[in-house]
Amino acid sequence: METVYLDNAATSFPKPPQVLRQMTRYLEEVGATVNRSVYGPAQAAGMVELRLRQRLCQLFHFTPMTHAVLTPGNTWGLNLVLSGFLRPGDHCVVSSMEHNAVMRPLQSLAKQGVTFTRVPCDAVGRLEPKDVENALQPDTRLVVLSHGSNVSGTVQDAAAVGEICYRHRIPFCLDGAQTAGHIPVDFSALGLSALSVPGHKGLLGPSGMGALLLDPAFAARLTPTISGGTGSASDSEEIPSYMPDRFEPGTPNVPGIYGLEAALQYLEWTGVEAIAAHDRDLTARFLDGVRSIPSVTLVGPDTLEDRVGVVSLDFPGRDNAEVAEALEREFGILTRCGLHCAPSAHKTLGTFPRGTIRFSWGWFSTESDIDRALEAVRSV
Ligand code: PMP
Repeated sequence: METVYLDNAATSFPKPPQVLRQMTRYLEEVGATVNRSVYGPAQAAGMVELRLRQRLCQLFHFTPMTHAVLTPGNTWGLNLVLSGFLRPGDHCVVSSMEHNAVMRPLQSLAKQGVTFTRVPCDAVGRLEPKDVENALQPDTRLVVLSHGSNVSGTVQDAAAVGEICYRHRIPFCLDGAQTAGHIPVDFSALGLSALSVPGHKGLLGPSGMGALLLDPAFAARLTPTISGGTGSASDSEEIPSYMPDRFEPGTPNVPGIYGLEAALQYLEWTGVEAIAAHDRDLTARFLDGVRSIPSVTLVGPDTLEDRVGVVSLDFPGRDNAEVAEALEREFGILTRCGLHCAPSAHKTLGTFPRGTIRFSWGWFSTESDIDRALEAVRSV
């Protein structure tokens, strides 16, 4: 039985063929690391890294390129912001839809005297921007928001939150895990101080790669939480003060750099608008189908506005884990069930601790994949 991969919110699959080709080419033919030695292959690898930064800037309407920091992943980037910025006595505002990539570092910081307010979202996971403004305190130093929910697909009005943060001169960090590469994300239009993204989801690159884009004024106030060799300023035992070296110690994931660079080139050719339209079409098809199946409950928004192609279902009266297992075994439908590393989001949506079965499509998913998933949901 051919399987249908509907777990793109965890990681996108398949990847564009050029991603595999470039990673293989690097491992077979180049081999050298970046920013250290100066022989030919090392310089060639350095140019690919530079092109990756250029493409990130282009995709997210961001400058300067020096402040497009390459990370080992989105969790890394979010930790860098939270732990590198918040100090005992500082207050932080988050939504009730955050992933544990935000909540766990924040809970650790809370043990050291950082306080935070979790702004409640409504029953479909939507944040009222005005509530963020009402949660601000004199000691609020940072607002962090998950742009798109990995449980319900709900996309927040980040521009409205950015405008509030701008007016109050409070840095605003966006977790772009479920929106980067799925819908247009414009760093300056959203009024961001920091944007953290994974390379392996909507950007269609390999895992082990991510990016953290930092507004220069915000970057200057961030302390590196990890330090080491950068291949630069080697006379000093201090991490350099200049970017991006300040936040990129250690030998990077060069195969990942090649893969993500190729993936972003593919995204440029394809166009995020085209990807968003495809995502919307598949979401409409899935939601239409689900409405005619009385035995399942849709969790999250049932409209196409301000959402991405991540849909959670609950099978009342059944064990969702057993249903997900049967979806794979009997129908070849690959989903994710449980709490999706986001207990707060499930509490908001009313599905804690039961969890949901999450269906998430991507650029390579087809209408027939959606139809097969619907048929399985109907029959299981
Ligand atoms: N935030 C959200 C909303 C996510 O969906 C994820 C990945 N599930 C993360 C953060 C963490 O990203 P990663 O696991 O790629 O570091």
